[in-house]
Amino acid sequence: MTNGGTRQSPKRETASNSASPYKGGITIKSEKEMEAMRHAGAIVAAAHAALRQAIRPGMKTQELDAVANREIRRHGAVPTFKGYRGFPGCVCTSVNEEIVHGIPGNRVIQDGDLVKMDVGATIDGFIGDAAITVGAGKITPEAEDLIEVTRLSLEEGIKAARDGARVGDIGAAIQTFVESRGYGIVREYVGHGVGRFLHEDPQIPNYGTPGKGVLLRKGMCIAIEPMVNVGDWRTKVLDDDWTVVTADGKLSAHFEHTIAIRDGEAEVLTRPR
Ligand code: MG
Repeated sequence: MTNGGTRQSPKRETASNSASPYKGGITIKSEKEMEAMRHAGAIVAAAHAALRQAIRPGMKTQELDAVANREIRRHGAVPTFKGYRGFPGCVCTSVNEEIVHGIPGNRVIQDGDLVKMDVGATIDGFIGDAAITVGAGKITPEAEDLIEVTRLSLEEGIKAARDGARVGDIGAAIQTFVESRGYGIVREYVGHGVGRFLHEDPQIPNYGTPGKGVLLRKGMCIAIEPMVNVGDWRTKVLDDDWTVVTADGKLSAHFEHTIAIRDGEAEVLTRPR
C-alpha cells in the first residue's frame, strides 16, 4: 500500500523542494517547528476554502489547479506537490471513481461529479497536507452519504490519535467505522508522517488492530487520510502512472488532515478556522 499519499513500500520518499534528502525515521517537532507546521496547515485550509468556493460544473480541473496555486502563493508558500516525484500539478484532482493522485487538466467537471482535491503547502521549510471531497452541482444521496461517512471516519481516526496510543488504534477506528456503514476502506494507500518532508515515517494505514503498531508520541505530526469506496477496497493505477482508481469503477471519497499529537486531543493543523 502507499501513502495517500504514497504507495506503501520500503522505498524512501524525498521531497523535491527540500535541501537535504529524508533519511527516514520519525521526527518530533519542537514548539517552534510546530508553529511552522501550524502556518503551513492554515495555508492548506485557505486553499481548500478557495477551491470549495470555486468549484462548479463546467470548469476544467486545471482551473482548480490555478486556484490552488494562486491561494498558496498569495500566502507566501510553495505548492508542495508541484514537481514532487514529477507530479505536474499543485493539487491532485480525482473525480468519481478516481481515488487519489488525479492530474489536473482538460477534464470538464460535470454536474453530480465527486471531486477530491488534495493540497500540500510548504512554508518556512514545513509542510501541510490535506484533502477534501466536494460534490459539483447536485449529487446523489448515495454520494452524499459516501462523503459524510468518509469525513466522519477521518474524525474517528483523529480521536484515536493520542500520545501513548498506537498507529493501529487510528486504523482500527477508521476501518471499524467505515465497514460498519458497508463501505470499503482502501488498503493500498495510507497516511504518513509529515514535517520537512511530505512523506515521513511512520505510515498510517486506514485499517489495523488496536494496540498494535508504532507508538504515537507528543510532537509527532501525521497526515491521516481515509480513502473510502462504495464497493470493494481494491485499486488500480491508470496509464498516466499517477491516477489511482477503484478496481470496480465505483465511487470513492477521500478526506485528509495533518494533525499534531499533543497532550490530550490531537491538534488539527489543517482545519479551516
Ligand atoms: Mg497525504
